[in-house]
Amino acid sequence: NTSLHELDPDVAAAVDAELHRQQSTLEMIASENFAPVAVMEAQGSVLTNKYAEGYPGRRYYGGCEHVDVVERIAIDRVKALFGAEHANVQPHSGAQANAAAMFALLKPGDTIMGLSLAHGGHLTHGMKINFSGKLYDVVAYHVDDDGLVDMAEVERLAKESRPKLIVAGWSAYPRQLDFAEFRRIADEVGAYLMVDMAHFAGLVAAGLHPSPVPHAHVVTTTTHKTLGGPRGGVILSTAELAKKINSAVFPGQQGGPLEHVVAAKAVSFKIAASEDFKERQRRTLEGARILAERLVQDDAKAVGVDVLSGGTDVHLVLVDLRNSALDGQQAEDRLHEVGITVNRNAVPNDPRPPMVTSGLRIGTPALATRGFTAEDFTEVADIIAAALKPAYDAQALRARVTALAEKHPLYPGLSA
Ligand code: PLP
Repeated sequence: NTSLHELDPDVAAAVDAELHRQQSTLEMIASENFAPVAVMEAQGSVLTNKYAEGYPGRRYYGGCEHVDVVERIAIDRVKALFGAEHANVQPHSGAQANAAAMFALLKPGDTIMGLSLAHGGHLTHGMKINFSGKLYDVVAYHVDDDGLVDMAEVERLAKESRPKLIVAGWSAYPRQLDFAEFRRIADEVGAYLMVDMAHFAGLVAAGLHPSPVPHAHVVTTTTHKTLGGPRGGVILSTAELAKKINSAVFPGQQGGPLEHVVAAKAVSFKIAASEDFKERQRRTLEGARILAERLVQDDAKAVGVDVLSGGTDVHLVLVDLRNSALDGQQAEDRLHEVGITVNRNAVPNDPRPPMVTSGLRIGTPALATRGFTAEDFTEVADIIAAALKPAYDAQALRARVTALAEKHPLYPGLSA
């Protein structure tokens, strides 16, 4: 029963330092969020001790009566939240959800289509040295000159390559996809449609983004991005594919499920069905819109800062630095210096190398969770715009960041 601080001061000190970092800086990595204390409580519970290979009611271990309750609650809640016929809540991560979904629907050597990584897709959508690129024959589609997914190209490539699976979804894209059109194309070539809604699942749950569920055979997601839960994955599917999906997760991909994480997922699904959650997602979208608007103003354009596709419909903005003296790495470092955490990101047809890039991906979910309002996001946008100018006062900007962080205390009950 020795506490972490007593038993392992080295690890405890790093955890404390991370709490302080999260509390004192502004988190704007688009794929991150702050899990509520109740979610972390479930995730840190004794459920971590339990082996439960199998599914509720059909386990390969004894003593599963309580984890069965938890997993059934998680399944029922996520099905209701997204109107899905079937849910598997066991994938340990988004990548494993995608691996299992592909394992269920494909054989090695089959052809898949996905958005190119360089144009905003995810590693698991067919990147060369990812499992998806090694196991399957990949045909990548792209965004056009306006930064929008080129549906004419999707249709042309689908007809040429006759894929078994089309993946719609993204890690860095500021607009909504046309799921009905993807399904029409998939049907025309006899492909499955899989939508990876990892990034925008929270917006879908809140009814602020079209749902892919009525259109796709399979929908995968993470639970820790806009959805705001523990790190993990989920697969939703039609009832027809339920058996295939379940057996692809276990025993196909994984051994024992992380029932402590499944419990935390269940809690986050309850939260995601609430009015408070909706209101938070509204502020998430509003914050991103404010950011995009203020980053395309004349003084930003004058120093070569622009926004891909001219704006955003989602929780993130892609800053285009192709005409800026600052590259993505330098811009990321500048913002880090003033206390704002973002990640550099390649823009389509990026002239700079992948470790440098000509872009930034900036997201608003974590700050919305922290309680940021339109007024706060306006201040954040102005701090970012000022930090990207050739002459900037790091100390003054850092002070403005600190003021915002103090205005919205994070995890006030936890202390380092
Ligand atoms: N799918 C998409 C669209 C993502 O953006 C990500 C993560 O960034 C993943 C899947 C993978 O999730 P995880 O990091 O949990 O494996």
